[in-house]
Amino acid sequence: MDHFHYRDGELHAEDVPLARIAEQIGTPVYVYSRAALERHARVFREAVGQGGARTICAFAVKSNPNLAVLRVMRREGFGADVVSGGELARALAAGMPAEAIVFSGVGKQAPEMAAGLDAGIGQFNIESEEEGLELSAIAAARGQQASCALRINPDIDAGTHEKISTGKRDNKFGVPIDQAAPMFARLAALPGLSMRGVAVHIGSQLASLAPLEAAFVRLGELIAELRAAGHSVSHADLGGGLGVCHKAGEILPTPQEYGAMVARVTKGWDTTLMFEPGRVIAGNAGVLLTRVVRVKRNANRDPFVIVDAAMNDLARPALYGAWHDFEPVRLRPERMTANIVGPICESGDTFATGRPIVAMGAGDLAVFRTAGAYGASMASSYNSRGLVAEVMVDNERFATVADRITPEAISAAERVPDWLD
Ligand SMILES: *Cc1c(COP(=O)(O)O)cnc(C)c1O
Repeated sequence: MDHFHYRDGELHAEDVPLARIAEQIGTPVYVYSRAALERHARVFREAVGQGGARTICAFAVKSNPNLAVLRVMRREGFGADVVSGGELARALAAGMPAEAIVFSGVGKQAPEMAAGLDAGIGQFNIESEEEGLELSAIAAARGQQASCALRINPDIDAGTHEKISTGKRDNKFGVPIDQAAPMFARLAALPGLSMRGVAVHIGSQLASLAPLEAAFVRLGELIAELRAAGHSVSHADLGGGLGVCHKAGEILPTPQEYGAMVARVTKGWDTTLMFEPGRVIAGNAGVLLTRVVRVKRNANRDPFVIVDAAMNDLARPALYGAWHDFEPVRLRPERMTANIVGPICESGDTFATGRPIVAMGAGDLAVFRTAGAYGASMASSYNSRGLVAEVMVDNERFATVADRITPEAISAAERVPDWLD
């Protein structure tokens, strides 16, 4: 249930026809459903609460940092998983409670650490001993205490695309699990750090629970080892990574199945469980609405359906070879097989090759589904295109939640030095 559905052959977001949004806002535009975001948040929170542990759900801001989206998450009782000072500022601006904010990432810089300390965030996920030493020095110098977890790298293949796999030994994330216990002890002895837990996140768009379970089992063993050594471990952060269905008919583990596995593996841990879901909440709560510019027919080849969205607006197909379902805003019985491409001058600007779709012609509207996560957040202005607009629907109303940034506004930030005159 994602609240994008056909009514009388016309695709709606909740009660709003997408054609109306295209007419008023223009295309390309991301469209999010408030109801779908809420529903996914509730389903997830209930699923991970199955075992009865205290839970903190921290929405992965990088999946969709839009302030209105973050506000929906806050209203659903979510905190935020942030990976930069910019994301921290957004989470705070959206009213997320500081104690439910987690700061992840291997390259936190001193001013970002200071900003997190000043905000009083709930947890820094430390990804190296070097980072821990630096955070300790900064916190101690400011007379502050950083509440921390140590992120481990369990050396587990998440079985996902290599560019979004984060839990293998060769990845830059976390500390090797076999070095974690002594490192935790050294960090716990430092001033300014309060080591409260351990964390793991092995990758994104996971299609199987097995690697997650293996990682959580290792985390549980580490918790036992740390406690045996006299440390108190009150928080276990299980990360994000649960995949979503990108292709009609695909079978993926459900949040309920994930929650049941978590309850089974974490039984007896006696910790607060933390989660950092992004894609599973936002992915299917958004579409990228686009208009066909023209259909180019070449001899001996499927036609090119050229749309006004491009790889700068939705990078996942070009970056990861990702599949996004492509559906017409107005249904019709005729079908065609097409290559769906954007206007950018790069062959990588291809959304689909040899794809069977409903027949389309110039001016027709269509959507790329599953675009609510890692869509707008990865947009760029490549080819001097503007930054795509974003809209949120709420029942029968909608609002622009991010203006389109025009190419003129982008070039207005550029300067030509006078020595080039
Ligand atoms: C990206 C990321 C997430 C979110 O991953 P999803 O696959 O979107 O759930 C969670 N935690 C960390 C540390 C991340 O880097």
